[in-house]
Amino acid sequence: MVIDRINFLKDEINKANYLYYVEDNPSVSDFEYDKMFAELKKLEEENPLFRTPDSPTQRVGSVSEKFFPHKHKYRLYSLDNTYEYEDLQEWYKKIVKEYGEQELVCELKIDGLAMALTYENGIFVRGVTRGDGITGEDITNNLKTVKAIPLKLFEPVDIEVRGEVYMPKESFEKLNQENLKNGEKLFANPRNAAAGSIRQLDSTITAKRDLSMFCYTAIFTGNIENPPKTHYESILYMKKLGFKVNPNIRLCKNADEAVEYCKEWDEKRFSLDYATDGVVIKVNSLAVQGEMGFTSRAPKWATAFKFPPEEVTTRLLAVEESVGKTGAITPVAILEPVQLGGSTVSRASLHNFDEVGRLDVRIGDRVYIKKAAEIIPKVVKVIEDEEHYKLPQYTPPDKCPSCHSELHVHPGEVNLYCDNPDCPAKRCAKIEYWASKDAMDIDKIGPSIIEQLYNKGFVRTPVDLYRLSMQDFMLLDLVKEKSAFNMYTSIQESKNRPLARFLTAFTIRNVGKETAGVLAAEFGTLENIKNASVEDLSKVEGVGEIIAQDIYNFFRSPANIKMLEELKSLGVEPALPVQNVSDKLKGKTFVLTGTLQNMTRDEASEKIKQLGGKTSSSVSKNTSYVIAGENAGSKLDKALKLNVIILTENDFLKMID
Ligand code: NAD
Repeated sequence: MVIDRINFLKDEINKANYLYYVEDNPSVSDFEYDKMFAELKKLEEENPLFRTPDSPTQRVGSVSEKFFPHKHKYRLYSLDNTYEYEDLQEWYKKIVKEYGEQELVCELKIDGLAMALTYENGIFVRGVTRGDGITGEDITNNLKTVKAIPLKLFEPVDIEVRGEVYMPKESFEKLNQENLKNGEKLFANPRNAAAGSIRQLDSTITAKRDLSMFCYTAIFTGNIENPPKTHYESILYMKKLGFKVNPNIRLCKNADEAVEYCKEWDEKRFSLDYATDGVVIKVNSLAVQGEMGFTSRAPKWATAFKFPPEEVTTRLLAVEESVGKTGAITPVAILEPVQLGGSTVSRASLHNFDEVGRLDVRIGDRVYIKKAAEIIPKVVKVIEDEEHYKLPQYTPPDKCPSCHSELHVHPGEVNLYCDNPDCPAKRCAKIEYWASKDAMDIDKIGPSIIEQLYNKGFVRTPVDLYRLSMQDFMLLDLVKEKSAFNMYTSIQESKNRPLARFLTAFTIRNVGKETAGVLAAEFGTLENIKNASVEDLSKVEGVGEIIAQDIYNFFRSPANIKMLEELKSLGVEPALPVQNVSDKLKGKTFVLTGTLQNMTRDEASEKIKQLGGKTSSSVSKNTSYVIAGENAGSKLDKALKLNVIILTENDFLKMID
């Protein structure tokens, strides 16, 4: 019966609303929520008699009782949304039919919390959450701690501004790391972290959280001269008053251009430092907006295109215990395949066994997985339903899954380790790492080839790769002459990579790609690093005494001395350091961020070094210049904060001329 389905959906959506809006602890993904919502809306449209005033389709959000309620002077609506470009075109066609061709404004849909800020005479007097759109919570004191919210505007106007409070992705990761360390609850995504932070009863806690706000709507509550006639003009006006507006807003001529914008940002969204779940498309003319008006829950002159989900739920089928290059055993979630961010995902990271215990992951659970920029998907949460508690708890292994040696916890660490130096999985992982993109970049041999080479007894260490002949590759399964040649050549081509790559490939404890780069820049040659004292090493930026000691020890271990000798005898040694062409950039430190058009960031770094300059991975007051390419993120923000000179790629090219 339709009525049963309607009631079921109403119950499920109401339950989800409560957990999402009041508890900041969602139980289903937004995608699933939107699917249920769309189904309920459709069923109610087809059966209007079953549409009741308490249906979730008739209202937005929920109000909690934590703060003082405040009735909004102007209602805050929701937005209609779709996951389909066709719907967007249809929406536009209807507008054109009635009002003629219209300019559209496309804005990223910021995945945060909607707020209404009231200013009287240019002074911030009140900040209220959206709540159910009619009544929200007065959280003025908490909002005063958000630095992007101006307390005084550049003009003494009466205005109500709406926007989205959000937490940058980097700050969200940091907050979760801290919570993990302190055994506290982890937030499922930046939105929940922002919600949990802004709705703190103690505003000193809010002040400690890194929150920001993009503003997107202005309502003039007093008289102003020449009020904006379009939405785009009002965005510019808000900017002029001192509000932070999103830099990626674009004025489009029609729906085709809007669709282009959506497609462009669906790809680029991961490069942003804040979460966006779609694009909001608004009619630009405020006069037409006024004529079009609202439905019971959303404006007719705006719609949201939602990106395919970044976070979905699926079932955990097994936990694979994988052995890494250091012998650390990491749990990997094997999942029922599911679509996420444009690809099918069947594996996700579980970090370590502490995290597995903290999440209380049980085989058979329904779990949330998410994907961030270029990061492998990870399990963020388990759905703790009745089924979950019936499943047996997961126990971490006590023996290595590869060589069956006893596993140990190293002092001060959470990981379990296999300490057997001859463990096959560990040896293969070391070789894989040596060949990886960040290390020696041997792109034609991957994990399965390495495993075969190992099983045939051809390789035991990375050095053995350089002893292989083309014939050895021909003995592997499914390898023909051409790919054998490619594999052999890609190994040969890696023999004289720059020093930084060697230092990365050595897997010295605590020395990753960044530190390796700084060490190479500082010491120039492998000989110099080998001969450096702990004191010399610890003077290098980002290398403390502990890391310095690790590096020092590495070059004094008999096994490593032997490995370096063997590599040298096979002609495998770092290329000579880049010669300074001039001292033009001497004493200058550069930080590169974003995508450059005419060169890669590595090439730009190389140029800087040739001209006597240095590069660093983070912005500080010692940074001389930040070179900002397209989609520059938090480094650019930091440079602005610290008043560091920002160069475009062209400025830089002119500088080095
Ligand atoms: P919405 O998030 O789909 O869209 C409306 C909101 O978008 C506005 O209120 C505003 O806060 C925001 N927004 C961001 N950038 C904007 C911009 N540039 N211009 C205008 N608005 C902008 O609608 P909603 O009513 O806030 O929430 C409903 C959505 O929340 C659902 O579609 C679902 O995805 C999610 N939700 C999920 C659960 C769950 O359990 N997972 C529960 C309830 C709601």
